Amino acid sequence: MRFAALSGLLIASALQSEGAAGQDLRIEHVTVVSPESTRELRDFNVSVHDGRITAVVAAAKDAPVRQAGASTLDGRGLYLVPGLIDSHVHLGSIPGMTDEQERAHPDIARAARDQIPRSYLYFGFTTLIDLISTPDEIARWKSHDPVPDTRFCGGAALMDGYPMNYLPKPQRYTGMPYMLVEPQDGVPLPPGVDPAVHTPQAVIARMKSDGAICVKTFFERGFGGVHDLPVPKPETIRSLVRAAHAAGLPVLLHANSAEAQTFGLDTGVDILAHGLWNADETAAPGELTPAVKSILDRVVTAQVGWQPTLQVLYGLQDLFNSGFLSDPMLARVLPRSLIDWYGTSEGQWFRAVVAADIPGADPGAALRRGLAVGIGRAAAATGYLAKHGGRLLFGTDTPSAPTYANPPGLNAWLEIHRLAEAGVTPPQIFEAATLSNARALRLDHDIGTVEAGKRANLLLVRSDPRQTVQAYDEIVKVILGGRVLDRKTLAANR
Ligand SMILES: [Zn+2]
Repeated sequence: MRFAALSGLLIASALQSEGAAGQDLRIEHVTVVSPESTRELRDFNVSVHDGRITAVVAAAKDAPVRQAGASTLDGRGLYLVPGLIDSHVHLGSIPGMTDEQERAHPDIARAARDQIPRSYLYFGFTTLIDLISTPDEIARWKSHDPVPDTRFCGGAALMDGYPMNYLPKPQRYTGMPYMLVEPQDGVPLPPGVDPAVHTPQAVIARMKSDGAICVKTFFERGFGGVHDLPVPKPETIRSLVRAAHAAGLPVLLHANSAEAQTFGLDTGVDILAHGLWNADETAAPGELTPAVKSILDRVVTAQVGWQPTLQVLYGLQDLFNSGFLSDPMLARVLPRSLIDWYGTSEGQWFRAVVAADIPGADPGAALRRGLAVGIGRAAAATGYLAKHGGRLLFGTDTPSAPTYANPPGLNAWLEIHRLAEAGVTPPQIFEAATLSNARALRLDHDIGTVEAGKRANLLLVRSDPRQTVQAYDEIVKVILGGRVLDRKTLAANR
């Protein structure tokens, strides 16, 4: 049984924005915890001007004179940490809703689209990377307020491969501006497709001028009922990587099988955008075979970024969990009207699609059994990398498929717990979601730490995230480009 994220059903989009300019702000007598330093800075003052951190100084040494008009936050008893970064999201669609359903329920959709950016902020995510987007789609996402800082990758899918296979022909050829074409002798291209526009070099040039900060490409032969999708040739991806690196863009590969991750290591991509879900199916849950270990050892040696995306598989299972929609945590991130709609037979459409692929009277139980090996392997592989110096990056792939069970913001909170269960320590989780993500996406000049000069994307929390992951649900204030947001005001159904 093979599983993968159905991102193709959600072809999304993106463009960057700096957000609203923040007011002058001073956070006083706070303990600063920042990933570049193992020290915690007790009783410090942090000043913010025009959305950027201007000073991080011991309160005892800070100038007593205040800037006129600056607001202050009393940080006594609190920790100041960098805003979190989710380096793998898809923001184009409302989770679990098709475009057609969205048009049929405009009120539910409006409430959902307004809440979703807040839900990421509610769980501390001030920066999101949409891995398959376009400037138009990101402009739509950015029309809400408040909204996390959002950047995007261009999706360089092989023509007719994953995830283009989910789009109908011939629209698919115009819907993926950055698709790659590998012309073959004697095989005509679809009308209107000019191979010169779809070489690795041309695709990278177009992405770069559209404002993408990264490249997402794919190695996926299929899952569910699909097994024979075309995959790119190694030389195509090597050229893509060369062109991307020349343009300053890191390359992420959708790769969740042993074959795909090996392909990524062989072609020099920077980040593997999933855990190792699919490998030797005869292994026991949690067993790492020598073949899998040798892939993981190469991941460590090459310091390739690795996004475990463990919660994705649980989100698939939760479609069949009858208690999921009444979980009070869900009511913190989604409008009541949307949750109620998910419970209708119309809202259960994707559950029905998944169930139809699974033989037997109890598809939920069969799915859980089928996923146990993949989940066990993915968790064991994550723990192995954590123990051996792998470069773990925090990415959730929210919502990963048209499922409602990987909800925005909450999914990240759940992923944090999956990582902890897999043996990733609190300091490693903290670093993965801040500085490691910033470095991997080449944003570390701007975000990822609490340092003068960086954008003031910060969280005030009640405990130290390097001590306990509980800190991520003890957020008091979310500071977005210097703008202070009370966490309570970000919740749904408040
Ligand atoms: Zn994805």
